[in-house]
Amino acid sequence: MRTNDFAQGAELPAAGWKRREQMEADERQTLAPYAQKSGDSRGRKFPEPRHDYRTEFQRDRARIIHSRAFRRLEYKTQVFLNGTADHLRTRLTHTFEVASVSRTIARALSLNEDLAEAIALAHDLGHAPFGHSGEEMLAECMHAHGGFEHNRQSLRVVELLEAVYPAFPGLNLTFEVLEGLRKRDEATAPSLEAAIADLADEITYYSHDLDDALDFAILDSDQLDNSAIWQRSHERVARLHPDLLGAELHKNIIRDIIDLQVRDVVATSASAITAAAPADSEEARREPRPLIRYSDGAAVANRELRNFLYENVYYHPRVAEVNRRACEMLRTVFAAYVEEPERLGDTAARRIEREGLHRTVCDYIAGMTDRYLLEEHSRLASG
Ligand code: MG
Repeated sequence: MRTNDFAQGAELPAAGWKRREQMEADERQTLAPYAQKSGDSRGRKFPEPRHDYRTEFQRDRARIIHSRAFRRLEYKTQVFLNGTADHLRTRLTHTFEVASVSRTIARALSLNEDLAEAIALAHDLGHAPFGHSGEEMLAECMHAHGGFEHNRQSLRVVELLEAVYPAFPGLNLTFEVLEGLRKRDEATAPSLEAAIADLADEITYYSHDLDDALDFAILDSDQLDNSAIWQRSHERVARLHPDLLGAELHKNIIRDIIDLQVRDVVATSASAITAAAPADSEEARREPRPLIRYSDGAAVANRELRNFLYENVYYHPRVAEVNRRACEMLRTVFAAYVEEPERLGDTAARRIEREGLHRTVCDYIAGMTDRYLLEEHSRLASG
């Protein structure tokens, strides 16, 4: 093929493809009035021309998936240290589960799937290596220098740390995706799509942490006899499949738990939205009580499950001891960079002047995978 032929293929013909304007018109036709339409986006900090055949939120989704921070999620701990066993969740597989549940709920409620998905895909980009223990250790290292919190870090990643585009720092995402990532800092409620990604995060991590803990034999299913959520799904599964036992039974209970939780959110939110009848996405944002929510009963049962996981899984000796050792390494590496900033990569070193040394070191370490931090630790130990 000659180069000219290829260049010609890049010219869009007059017909046979769908224009962004048509996609925006389709959203107005098919989505609910209170859905956030991509054509109504408040735009980007650094204005850019719109795309021929991708909506603004589709474009955000692509930018997130193509980022380095996103690829690194594959080697970051969810609960169990990365590499512990091949089928345990990582930050990346957790993120895909959140995106999948978000899309399901958004579509069922005629909301904007692309927006909910983009927020879900970006929601954990700011996580430090070694999961929540890594986050706590980094917060401790940053105690006198502005602290560390993974939600705020996700925003730093997409607004500053990803360096791809010549014209601006970060990914220059739309206001609506950033608003979804900022959710916990803001007094005003975000879009319904952002609220969906938030609940989908909870639904997936409660159920998959339970799944991984059973799989990794940190939990025994007898311990779950007092959990209302587990009991209800156990009874439902046992009625349908009385012969299931052991791991097979557990998988099906977990599946049922996710299904019931999603169904509860769809049903409760649909009733709440119908009752409030917001005229548009702005009115939906101003609702005093979140429109996307669990039923009161499910909310109580979820809190109970959350407490159970904290008591029996997240601080279990087999999890906590490994995490503690890993976090000590994080502390050592942090101190070594502060002591010798020349060990930082070039891109990071250029940020010291503007961001300060501690913040630069914090950003650098937060961006690391578990594996890279372990390697860096042994490099330091060997001089
Ligand atoms: Mg998450």
